[in-house]
Amino acid sequence: MVRNLLDCNRVAHLGLFITGIRLLHGRRVFGDATAGLAHDLLTTFYRDHEMFYKYQQNYVLHLHIHYAEIYQNHGSLCNINTFSQEDIMGAVSKCKHGSRYWGDQLAFYLNIDFALKNSQQYEESAYSIFGSEGVFDETTLPVELIQVISSVHTSLCHCHDLNQCIKFYRRFRNKKQIVYHSLAYTKRQSSVSYFVKYNSLFGIIITFMSCDDKQYAIIKRHAVKKKFSDYFVSSPYHSLLSKPIDTFFFVLEKQSLQFDVVDVYSSLDMCIVIEEDDCFIVSPLSIYHEHD
Ligand SMILES: [Zn+2]
Ligand SMILES: [Zn+2]
Repeated sequence: MVRNLLDCNRVAHLGLFITGIRLLHGRRVFGDATAGLAHDLLTTFYRDHEMFYKYQQNYVLHLHIHYAEIYQNHGSLCNINTFSQEDIMGAVSKCKHGSRYWGDQLAFYLNIDFALKNSQQYEESAYSIFGSEGVFDETTLPVELIQVISSVHTSLCHCHDLNQCIKFYRRFRNKKQIVYHSLAYTKRQSSVSYFVKYNSLFGIIITFMSCDDKQYAIIKRHAVKKKFSDYFVSSPYHSLLSKPIDTFFFVLEKQSLQFDVVDVYSSLDMCIVIEEDDCFIVSPLSIYHEHD
């Protein structure tokens, strides 16, 4: 990781920028205080830029002090990025006819779009063009769970036939059509698609299962090792940085000692994971409709 290559203050200074942008990018993590906090981080980044980078203070750097205002006026950066704009421009140019009344046509097609979107919730899921929600892609009991599965079963169900009762699945699709992978899903190749945040805990989804008409994820929990901001204790930016950076980045133990059985419909946030020698650094995705 960069902290091994650069000195602590320089990394912390860069952290001001990254955390500031993360704050403005997704949900209002700190409510109405979000923009103000991001502004403090970005203006401090701007103020001290010259201490770390000589002769590189250009106009784009100056614009950082206006980001919070743009956020206040127009919303999160994820909603005003160029990809969505290009998307809609493409859609408009494809649907237009003739050379006049483009405004009316645009409104016409947008109305059709909204109508289709609204009607979708009345559709039977079996007829939906989307896949139906729930666990799918059946598999067998993962080796890791042989020891614990009977105690998991007794905690969930009173029947006596575990083999008939519990079924295992590789994947799960939630109400928003987001597909979660478990470790048992091998077609993911090298991508880490099975690491999630649930409540305030983190872990690897070993498998999905159904039991007694309910669906669960069995998650191998990785405990929080220390605060991410602890890497920057010696930096002058620590007090400013610690609160926001600790909501986006987490340092976890590599050893796991515990399995949790979690309702699949409770909130599972996918995480980006970086493996270090002595820990995992994870960051939950802040928004799903674009890459983070
Ligand atoms: Zn200006
Ligand atoms: Zn049972």
